[in-house]
Amino acid sequence: MGGTFDPIHIGHLLLGEFAFEQFSLDEIWFLPNGNPPHKDTGEMDTCLGHRVEMVRAAISGSPHFKLSLHEAKEGIHSYTYQTMLEFHEMYPDNQFYFILGADSLFSIEKWKYFEGIFSYCTILAAMRDDKDVRDMKKQIAYLKKKYEAEIELLMAPLLEISSTTIRNRAAKGLTVHYMVPDKVADYIKEHHLYKDIKS
Ligand code: ATP
Ligand code: MG
Repeated sequence: MGGTFDPIHIGHLLLGEFAFEQFSLDEIWFLPNGNPPHKDTGEMDTCLGHRVEMVRAAISGSPHFKLSLHEAKEGIHSYTYQTMLEFHEMYPDNQFYFILGADSLFSIEKWKYFEGIFSYCTILAAMRDDKDVRDMKKQIAYLKKKYEAEIELLMAPLLEISSTTIRNRAAKGLTVHYMVPDKVADYIKEHHLYKDIKS
């Protein structure tokens, strides 16, 4: 699962946990992205080091959750297709899946060389907020037909939680407890993250 993880929250973790179970996976790799090209970089205030440490803290109790630093390169654009190609070459005996939420599934055609992603992995797509299961199934069918992509619907609890909400709450001094693991909430507090966000 690639992401900005600014910060990692229980939505991400539940996606990982349910994908692990539903598709009998061996490991879930979390890939914090250094400087995601499809994101408004103006929002990226939190340094990569903090985002990586929050992922590390969040997954520390789960043996099948791993932190991958493959995309964690400061100032370098990471492209998912390239990561998938490199993983394919580095681990030729492994089968890779890419976990994402509905917003990503609906914008994936804007990602660089997105068709390459379909060549090297199966997409596991979870629903999110404004998309219902019918929208999701339609989008999955469309992408499968058009690009011969392998895409499965990942059934995970629907949580109206985003890193944006958490950043905004933290900026206002509101609680983020239970939206992120305790260790992440402690980290945010200790490092005074998200204090200067204007909403
Ligand atoms: P931001 O608000 O900063 O965009 P985010 O919560 O969307 O943060 P990202 O790091 O952008 O988190 O997301 C990484 C991946 O996790 C994306 O594919 C996204 O769709 C998915 N995701 C994040 N939160 C959820 C959620 N609550 N339910 C389903 N998928 C989610
Ligand atoms: Mg997002």
